[in-house]
Amino acid sequence: MKTNKLSFETEAIRTQIERSQYLEHSAPLYLTSSYVFEDAEDMRASFADEKERNIYSRYSNPNTSEFIEKICKMEGGESGYAFATGMAAVFSTFAALLDAGDHILSSRSVFGSTQTMFNTILPKWNITTSSFQIEEIESIEDRIQPNTKVIYAESPTNPAVDILDLEFLGAIAKKHNLILIIDNCFATPYLQQPIKFGADLVIHSATKLIDGQGRVLGGVTVGKKELIQKIYLFSRNTGPALSPFNAWVLSKSLETLPVRVDRHCENALKVAEFLEKHSRVNLVKYPFLKSHPQYELAKKQMKFGGNVVAFEIKGGIDAGRKFLNKIKLLSLSANLGDTRTIVTHPASTTHAKLSEEDRLITGITGGLVRVSVGLENVNDVINDLRQALD
Ligand SMILES: *Cc1c(COP(=O)(O)O)cnc(C)c1O
Repeated sequence: MKTNKLSFETEAIRTQIERSQYLEHSAPLYLTSSYVFEDAEDMRASFADEKERNIYSRYSNPNTSEFIEKICKMEGGESGYAFATGMAAVFSTFAALLDAGDHILSSRSVFGSTQTMFNTILPKWNITTSSFQIEEIESIEDRIQPNTKVIYAESPTNPAVDILDLEFLGAIAKKHNLILIIDNCFATPYLQQPIKFGADLVIHSATKLIDGQGRVLGGVTVGKKELIQKIYLFSRNTGPALSPFNAWVLSKSLETLPVRVDRHCENALKVAEFLEKHSRVNLVKYPFLKSHPQYELAKKQMKFGGNVVAFEIKGGIDAGRKFLNKIKLLSLSANLGDTRTIVTHPASTTHAKLSEEDRLITGITGGLVRVSVGLENVNDVINDLRQALD
Protein backbone atom coordinates (compact mmCIF):
# COMPACT_ATOMS: atom_id res chain seq x y z
CA MET A 1 0.00 0.00 0.00
CA LYS A 2 1.59 3.28 -1.11
CA THR A 3 0.27 6.35 0.62
CA ASN A 4 1.60 9.67 1.79
CA LYS A 5 3.48 9.68 5.08
CA LEU A 6 1.13 8.39 7.74
CA SER A 7 0.78 9.69 11.24
CA PHE A 8 2.74 8.24 14.16
CA GLU A 9 -0.11 6.14 15.58
CA THR A 10 -0.96 4.70 12.18
CA GLU A 11 2.64 3.77 11.38
CA ALA A 12 2.87 2.03 14.76
CA ILE A 13 -0.06 -0.18 13.78
CA ARG A 14 0.12 -0.50 10.01
CA THR A 15 3.84 -1.15 9.44
CA GLN A 16 4.00 -4.80 8.44
CA ILE A 17 6.72 -6.10 6.21
CA GLU A 18 5.83 -9.80 5.73
CA ARG A 19 2.66 -11.73 5.17
CA SER A 20 2.77 -15.49 4.65
CA GLN A 21 0.70 -17.62 2.23
CA TYR A 22 -2.05 -17.70 4.90
CA LEU A 23 -2.65 -13.94 4.60
CA GLU A 24 -2.82 -13.50 8.35
CA HIS A 25 -4.00 -10.10 9.55
CA SER A 26 -1.66 -9.83 12.53
CA ALA A 27 2.01 -10.55 11.70
CA PRO A 28 2.94 -14.15 12.59
CA LEU A 29 5.97 -15.25 14.58
CA TYR A 30 8.83 -16.41 12.33
CA LEU A 31 10.72 -18.82 14.56
CA THR A 32 13.46 -19.93 12.21
CA SER A 33 17.21 -19.74 12.52
CA SER A 34 17.90 -19.89 8.78
CA TYR A 35 16.26 -19.47 5.36
CA VAL A 36 16.43 -21.54 2.14
CA PHE A 37 17.81 -20.60 -1.26
CA GLU A 38 16.43 -21.37 -4.74
CA ASP A 39 19.72 -22.60 -6.18
CA ALA A 40 23.47 -22.13 -6.08
CA GLU A 41 23.33 -18.74 -7.83
CA ASP A 42 20.64 -17.42 -5.40
CA MET A 43 22.80 -18.55 -2.51
CA ARG A 44 25.96 -16.97 -3.94
CA ALA A 45 24.24 -13.65 -4.66
CA SER A 46 22.62 -13.57 -1.21
CA PHE A 47 25.92 -14.14 0.57
CA ALA A 48 27.57 -11.51 -1.65
CA ASP A 49 24.97 -9.00 -0.36
CA GLU A 50 23.74 -8.48 -3.92
CA LYS A 51 20.21 -9.21 -2.70
CA GLU A 52 18.44 -7.90 0.35
CA ARG A 53 16.99 -11.01 1.93
CA ASN A 54 17.06 -13.09 5.10
CA ILE A 55 19.98 -15.52 5.30
CA TYR A 56 20.35 -16.32 8.99
CA SER A 57 18.47 -14.87 11.98
CA ARG A 58 21.63 -13.47 13.58
CA TYR A 59 21.72 -11.12 10.56
CA SER A 60 18.00 -10.49 10.12
CA ASN A 61 14.57 -12.04 10.67
CA PRO A 62 11.11 -10.84 9.53
CA ASN A 63 10.01 -10.13 13.12
CA THR A 64 13.12 -8.17 14.07
CA SER A 65 12.98 -6.32 10.73
CA GLU A 66 9.38 -5.29 11.37
CA PHE A 67 10.26 -4.05 14.86
CA ILE A 68 13.25 -2.07 13.52
CA GLU A 69 11.18 -0.63 10.66
CA LYS A 70 8.58 0.65 13.11
CA ILE A 71 11.16 2.27 15.39
CA CYS A 72 12.84 3.87 12.35
CA LYS A 73 9.54 5.38 11.26
CA MET A 74 8.74 6.57 14.79
CA GLU A 75 12.17 8.10 15.42
CA GLY A 76 12.82 9.34 11.88
CA GLY A 77 15.87 7.04 11.55
CA GLU A 78 17.13 5.77 8.20
CA SER A 79 18.05 2.33 9.40
CA GLY A 80 18.56 0.27 12.57
CA TYR A 81 19.56 -2.95 14.31
CA ALA A 82 17.76 -4.70 17.20
CA PHE A 83 19.51 -6.23 20.21
CA ALA A 84 18.79 -8.75 22.97
CA THR A 85 18.85 -6.01 25.63
CA GLY A 86 19.22 -2.27 25.96
CA MET A 87 22.78 -2.74 27.25
CA ALA A 88 23.67 -4.89 24.22
CA ALA A 89 22.51 -1.95 22.10
CA VAL A 90 24.60 0.55 24.08
CA PHE A 91 27.74 -1.61 24.13
CA SER A 92 27.54 -2.76 20.49
CA THR A 93 26.98 0.80 19.30
CA PHE A 94 30.16 2.01 21.02
CA ALA A 95 32.17 -1.08 20.14
CA ALA A 96 31.21 -0.78 16.47
CA LEU A 97 31.93 2.93 16.11
CA LEU A 98 34.95 3.55 18.33
CA ASP A 99 38.60 2.60 17.96
CA ALA A 100 41.26 2.22 20.62
CA GLY A 101 42.26 5.70 21.81
CA ASP A 102 38.89 7.33 21.11
CA HIS A 103 37.13 9.45 23.70
CA ILE A 104 33.47 9.80 24.71
CA LEU A 105 32.03 12.96 26.22
CA SER A 106 29.03 11.88 28.28
CA SER A 107 26.46 13.41 30.55
CA ARG A 108 27.23 12.36 34.15
CA SER A 109 23.66 11.14 34.66
CA VAL A 110 23.44 7.94 32.67
CA PHE A 111 22.01 4.51 33.36
CA GLY A 112 24.07 2.61 35.98
CA SER A 113 25.35 -0.15 33.69
CA THR A 114 26.29 2.41 31.04
CA GLN A 115 28.32 4.25 33.67
CA THR A 116 30.04 0.99 34.68
CA MET A 117 30.77 0.29 31.02
CA PHE A 118 32.43 3.71 30.69
CA ASN A 119 34.41 3.26 33.92
CA THR A 120 35.59 -0.32 33.72
CA ILE A 121 34.83 -2.03 30.39
CA LEU A 122 35.62 0.36 27.55
CA PRO A 123 38.97 1.37 29.15
CA LYS A 124 40.13 -2.22 28.43
CA TRP A 125 40.41 -1.04 24.81
CA ASN A 126 41.76 2.36 25.80
CA ILE A 127 38.44 4.06 25.08
CA THR A 128 38.05 6.78 27.69
CA THR A 129 35.08 8.83 28.87
CA SER A 130 34.80 12.15 30.58
CA SER A 131 31.53 13.47 31.85
CA PHE A 132 29.75 16.74 32.42
CA GLN A 133 27.10 17.66 34.97
CA ILE A 134 23.75 18.94 33.74
CA GLU A 135 24.66 22.43 35.04
CA GLU A 136 27.90 22.35 33.02
CA ILE A 137 26.23 21.70 29.68
CA GLU A 138 26.83 25.25 28.42
CA SER A 139 30.59 24.79 28.65
CA ILE A 140 30.91 21.31 27.18
CA GLU A 141 32.86 22.62 24.20
CA ASP A 142 35.79 23.16 26.59
CA ARG A 143 35.77 19.44 27.34
CA ILE A 144 36.05 18.27 23.75
CA GLN A 145 39.45 16.63 23.18
CA PRO A 146 41.28 15.98 19.90
CA ASN A 147 40.31 12.28 20.22
CA THR A 148 36.64 12.89 21.14
CA LYS A 149 34.36 11.04 18.75
CA VAL A 150 30.99 10.81 20.50
CA ILE A 151 28.72 12.94 22.66
CA TYR A 152 26.39 10.75 24.71
CA ALA A 153 23.38 11.66 26.85
CA GLU A 154 20.02 10.58 28.24
CA SER A 155 17.03 12.86 28.73
CA PRO A 156 15.04 12.67 30.95
CA THR A 157 17.73 11.22 33.20
CA ASN A 158 17.42 8.35 35.63
CA PRO A 159 16.52 8.60 38.48
CA ALA A 160 16.59 12.40 39.02
CA VAL A 161 14.44 13.19 35.91
CA ASP A 162 16.60 16.10 34.73
CA ILE A 163 16.26 17.38 31.18
CA LEU A 164 19.14 18.02 28.77
CA ASP A 165 18.88 20.43 25.86
CA LEU A 166 18.99 18.13 22.83
CA GLU A 167 19.04 20.92 20.26
CA PHE A 168 22.07 22.46 21.95
CA LEU A 169 23.88 19.10 22.04
CA GLY A 170 22.96 18.58 18.37
CA ALA A 171 24.47 21.94 17.41
CA ILE A 172 27.72 21.28 19.33
CA ALA A 173 28.07 17.80 17.81
CA LYS A 174 27.53 19.19 14.33
CA LYS A 175 29.98 22.05 14.81
CA HIS A 176 32.76 19.70 15.97
CA ASN A 177 31.86 16.84 13.65
CA LEU A 178 31.09 14.45 16.54
CA ILE A 179 28.53 11.67 16.65
CA LEU A 180 25.63 12.54 18.96
CA ILE A 181 24.03 9.45 20.52
CA ILE A 182 20.92 9.79 22.71
CA ASP A 183 19.49 7.05 24.94
CA ASN A 184 15.79 7.88 24.49
CA CYS A 185 14.49 5.16 26.80
CA PHE A 186 12.67 7.37 29.31
CA ALA A 187 10.84 9.40 26.67
CA THR A 188 10.04 6.77 24.00
CA PRO A 189 9.78 7.93 20.36
CA TYR A 190 6.22 9.00 21.07
CA LEU A 191 7.25 11.79 23.46
CA GLN A 192 10.56 12.88 21.95
CA GLN A 193 12.46 12.31 18.70
CA PRO A 194 16.11 13.26 19.23
CA ILE A 195 17.02 12.93 15.53
CA LYS A 196 14.88 16.05 14.91
CA PHE A 197 17.20 17.92 17.27
CA GLY A 198 20.39 16.72 15.60
CA ALA A 199 21.10 13.28 17.10
CA ASP A 200 22.87 10.88 14.74
CA LEU A 201 21.78 7.77 16.60
CA VAL A 202 19.03 6.95 19.09
CA ILE A 203 19.23 3.99 21.45
CA HIS A 204 16.37 2.36 23.34
CA SER A 205 16.07 -0.19 26.04
CA ALA A 206 12.85 -1.69 24.62
CA THR A 207 12.50 -3.51 27.95
CA LYS A 208 10.86 -0.44 29.48
CA LEU A 209 7.90 1.48 28.00
CA ILE A 210 8.23 -0.08 24.54
CA ASP A 211 7.33 -3.51 25.91
CA GLY A 212 5.34 -1.72 28.57
CA GLN A 213 4.15 -4.86 30.29
CA GLY A 214 7.30 -6.13 31.99
CA ARG A 215 7.64 -9.26 29.83
CA VAL A 216 10.69 -9.23 27.58
CA LEU A 217 14.12 -7.62 27.28
CA GLY A 218 15.20 -5.88 24.11
CA GLY A 219 17.15 -2.99 22.66
CA VAL A 220 17.48 -1.10 19.42
CA THR A 221 19.70 1.51 17.78
CA VAL A 222 18.41 3.59 14.88
CA GLY A 223 19.71 6.56 12.93
CA LYS A 224 22.12 7.43 10.10
CA LYS A 225 22.57 4.67 7.56
CA GLU A 226 26.36 4.83 7.33
CA LEU A 227 26.70 4.47 11.12
CA ILE A 228 24.11 1.70 11.33
CA GLN A 229 25.96 -0.19 8.61
CA LYS A 230 29.02 -0.36 10.90
CA ILE A 231 26.84 -1.40 13.85
CA TYR A 232 25.18 -4.04 11.69
CA LEU A 233 28.49 -5.54 10.55
CA PHE A 234 29.81 -5.57 14.12
CA SER A 235 26.62 -7.18 15.45
CA ARG A 236 26.13 -9.67 12.62
CA ASN A 237 29.56 -11.07 13.47
CA THR A 238 29.47 -10.87 17.26
CA GLY A 239 25.91 -12.03 17.97
CA PRO A 240 23.94 -9.66 20.26
CA ALA A 241 20.78 -10.07 18.13
CA LEU A 242 17.24 -9.76 19.48
CA SER A 243 15.30 -13.04 19.46
CA PRO A 244 12.42 -13.24 16.92
CA PHE A 245 9.97 -14.01 19.73
CA ASN A 246 10.90 -10.89 21.68
CA ALA A 247 10.82 -8.84 18.47
CA TRP A 248 7.30 -10.10 17.78
CA VAL A 249 6.18 -9.15 21.32
CA LEU A 250 7.79 -5.72 21.04
CA SER A 251 6.36 -5.00 17.61
CA LYS A 252 2.86 -5.77 18.90
CA SER A 253 3.54 -3.55 21.90
CA LEU A 254 4.36 -0.62 19.62
CA GLU A 255 0.80 -0.77 18.24
CA THR A 256 -0.46 0.49 21.61
CA LEU A 257 2.51 2.67 22.58
CA PRO A 258 0.76 6.03 21.95
CA VAL A 259 -2.37 5.21 23.96
CA ARG A 260 -0.40 3.59 26.77
CA VAL A 261 2.09 6.42 27.06
CA ASP A 262 -0.71 9.02 26.98
CA ARG A 263 -2.25 7.40 30.07
CA HIS A 264 1.13 6.83 31.76
CA CYS A 265 1.86 10.56 31.45
CA GLU A 266 -1.62 11.62 32.57
CA ASN A 267 -1.32 9.41 35.67
CA ALA A 268 2.26 10.53 36.39
CA LEU A 269 1.29 14.20 36.32
CA LYS A 270 -1.53 13.52 38.82
CA VAL A 271 0.87 11.61 41.09
CA ALA A 272 3.40 14.45 40.87
CA GLU A 273 0.74 17.04 41.73
CA PHE A 274 -0.40 14.96 44.70
CA LEU A 275 3.16 14.54 46.02
CA GLU A 276 3.92 18.24 45.64
CA LYS A 277 1.15 19.03 48.16
CA HIS A 278 2.13 16.40 50.73
CA SER A 279 3.74 17.73 53.92
CA ARG A 280 6.26 14.86 54.22
CA VAL A 281 7.67 15.57 50.76
CA ASN A 282 10.49 18.06 50.24
CA LEU A 283 10.81 18.19 46.52
CA VAL A 284 9.08 16.65 43.50
CA LYS A 285 10.77 16.34 40.13
CA TYR A 286 8.56 15.79 37.09
CA PRO A 287 9.33 17.43 33.72
CA PHE A 288 5.82 18.79 33.17
CA LEU A 289 5.46 20.30 36.67
CA LYS A 290 5.92 24.07 36.56
CA SER A 291 8.35 23.77 39.49
CA HIS A 292 10.77 21.60 37.45
CA PRO A 293 13.98 23.57 36.79
CA GLN A 294 13.85 22.74 33.08
CA TYR A 295 10.08 22.93 32.64
CA GLU A 296 10.25 25.20 29.56
CA LEU A 297 12.86 23.00 27.92
CA ALA A 298 10.83 19.86 28.67
CA LYS A 299 7.77 21.48 27.07
CA LYS A 300 9.85 22.37 24.03
CA GLN A 301 11.34 18.97 23.34
CA MET A 302 8.78 16.53 24.79
CA LYS A 303 5.11 15.92 23.99
CA PHE A 304 4.29 15.01 27.63
CA GLY A 305 6.38 14.54 30.76
CA GLY A 306 6.91 10.76 30.76
CA ASN A 307 5.97 8.26 33.44
CA VAL A 308 8.76 8.69 36.01
CA VAL A 309 8.34 10.94 39.03
CA ALA A 310 11.16 11.50 41.52
CA PHE A 311 10.57 12.92 44.97
CA GLU A 312 12.41 13.44 48.19
CA ILE A 313 11.01 12.31 51.50
CA LYS A 314 11.89 14.36 54.52
CA GLY A 315 14.17 12.38 56.84
CA GLY A 316 16.79 11.01 54.45
CA ILE A 317 17.81 7.41 53.84
CA ASP A 318 15.94 5.91 56.82
CA ALA A 319 12.71 7.66 55.90
CA GLY A 320 13.12 6.42 52.32
CA ARG A 321 13.50 2.80 53.41
CA LYS A 322 10.65 3.09 55.90
CA PHE A 323 8.39 4.47 53.18
CA LEU A 324 9.15 1.49 50.94
CA ASN A 325 8.26 -0.93 53.73
CA LYS A 326 4.83 0.70 54.10
CA ILE A 327 3.88 0.32 50.42
CA LYS A 328 1.03 -2.20 50.04
CA LEU A 329 -0.26 -2.22 46.45
CA LEU A 330 2.61 -0.92 44.34
CA SER A 331 5.64 -3.04 43.42
CA LEU A 332 9.15 -2.79 44.79
CA SER A 333 11.04 -3.79 41.67
CA ALA A 334 14.01 -2.80 39.53
CA ASN A 335 12.15 -2.35 36.24
CA LEU A 336 10.28 0.69 34.96
CA GLY A 337 7.74 1.51 32.28
CA ASP A 338 5.47 -1.38 33.28
CA THR A 339 1.65 -1.34 33.52
CA ARG A 340 2.24 -1.83 37.27
CA THR A 341 3.48 1.15 39.26
CA ILE A 342 6.98 0.52 40.60
CA VAL A 343 8.64 2.30 43.52
CA THR A 344 12.41 2.29 44.10
CA HIS A 345 14.79 3.88 46.58
CA PRO A 346 17.99 4.48 44.57
CA ALA A 347 20.28 5.37 47.52
CA SER A 348 19.84 1.94 49.15
CA THR A 349 19.53 -0.16 45.95
CA THR A 350 20.54 0.72 42.38
CA HIS A 351 23.03 3.40 43.44
CA ALA A 352 24.09 1.96 46.83
CA LYS A 353 27.58 1.10 45.55
CA LEU A 354 28.38 4.74 44.80
CA SER A 355 29.95 6.99 47.40
CA GLU A 356 27.59 9.54 48.95
CA GLU A 357 29.49 12.27 47.13
CA ASP A 358 29.02 10.57 43.74
CA ARG A 359 25.35 9.99 44.54
CA LEU A 360 24.75 13.62 45.37
CA ILE A 361 26.47 14.72 42.14
CA THR A 362 23.70 13.03 40.18
CA GLY A 363 20.96 14.32 42.48
CA ILE A 364 20.44 11.09 44.43
CA THR A 365 19.80 12.18 48.00
CA GLY A 366 19.10 9.69 50.79
CA GLY A 367 15.38 10.41 50.72
CA LEU A 368 14.99 10.25 46.92
CA VAL A 369 12.25 7.89 45.75
CA ARG A 370 11.59 7.07 42.11
CA VAL A 371 8.09 6.13 41.00
CA SER A 372 7.49 4.60 37.58
CA VAL A 373 3.79 5.36 37.32
CA GLY A 374 1.77 2.55 35.74
CA LEU A 375 -1.69 2.15 34.27
CA GLU A 376 -3.68 1.22 37.37
CA ASN A 377 -6.47 3.64 38.30
CA VAL A 378 -4.44 6.63 39.43
CA ASN A 379 -6.57 7.08 42.59
CA ASP A 380 -5.46 3.64 43.81
CA VAL A 381 -1.83 4.56 43.12
CA ILE A 382 -2.16 7.85 44.99
CA ASN A 383 -3.98 6.19 47.90
CA ASP A 384 -1.15 3.71 48.39
CA LEU A 385 1.48 6.45 48.25
CA ARG A 386 -0.57 8.55 50.70
CA GLN A 387 -1.00 5.81 53.31
CA ALA A 388 2.72 4.96 53.11
CA LEU A 389 3.69 8.62 53.54
CA ASP A 390 1.24 9.13 56.39
C1 LIG B 1 17.06 -0.06 31.44
C2 LIG B 1 17.88 0.93 30.75
C3 LIG B 1 18.96 0.53 29.94
C4 LIG B 1 19.39 -0.90 29.80
O1 LIG B 1 18.41 -1.69 29.21
P1 LIG B 1 18.28 -3.28 29.45
O2 LIG B 1 17.21 -3.66 28.49
O3 LIG B 1 17.93 -3.48 30.89
O4 LIG B 1 19.61 -3.87 29.11
C5 LIG B 1 19.66 1.52 29.27
N1 LIG B 1 19.35 2.83 29.40
C6 LIG B 1 18.32 3.23 30.18
C7 LIG B 1 18.03 4.69 30.29
C8 LIG B 1 17.55 2.30 30.88
O5 LIG B 1 16.54 2.72 31.65
